[in-house]
Amino acid sequence: MEDLKFCPKCGYESLLWDGEQKWSCSNCDYVLYHNVAAAVAVVISCNGEFLFTRRNQEPKKGKLDLAGGFVDLRESAEETCVRELYEELKIKVDISKLKYLAGLPNTYEYKNIPYNTLDLFYEYEVDEKFDIELELSEISEAVWIKKDNIILDEIAFDSQRIFFKNFIAG
Ligand SMILES: [Zn+2]
Repeated sequence: MEDLKFCPKCGYESLLWDGEQKWSCSNCDYVLYHNVAAAVAVVISCNGEFLFTRRNQEPKKGKLDLAGGFVDLRESAEETCVRELYEELKIKVDISKLKYLAGLPNTYEYKNIPYNTLDLFYEYEVDEKFDIELELSEISEAVWIKKDNIILDEIAFDSQRIFFKNFIAG
């Protein structure tokens, strides 16, 4: 963040990072915000078991993750759930069955840049386990785990770890 020094408007080396969420130029009126981004995480459940994916890319390669991702422009959170579950797992979600659970903050580091997100958690209950066609570039495997067998340290992201910690506690 501090690496960005040159103002894209006036060209002077006068851009200042506030340490939180914006750069501003001390020479002109240029301001650039690095706002919180919205993301979704979907807890797919089937008779007391929960579907996790194992990440096959950085950050947190090898750790457990939930299906989900960043919200696109002009997309509702529920539409993001539908799109991401199709992209990652090739499953067709009935949007009316998505149940909102919680919104928790997270930091997602990509190529050394930390992105602050607000992760919106949804539950999607299915009657039976389904076959998964994996997007192997992103996910190495998909696993169903019973509530009692969820190991918090295996979970990739803070928001999901906090979510499952609360969830397991009841
Ligand atoms: Zn400037």
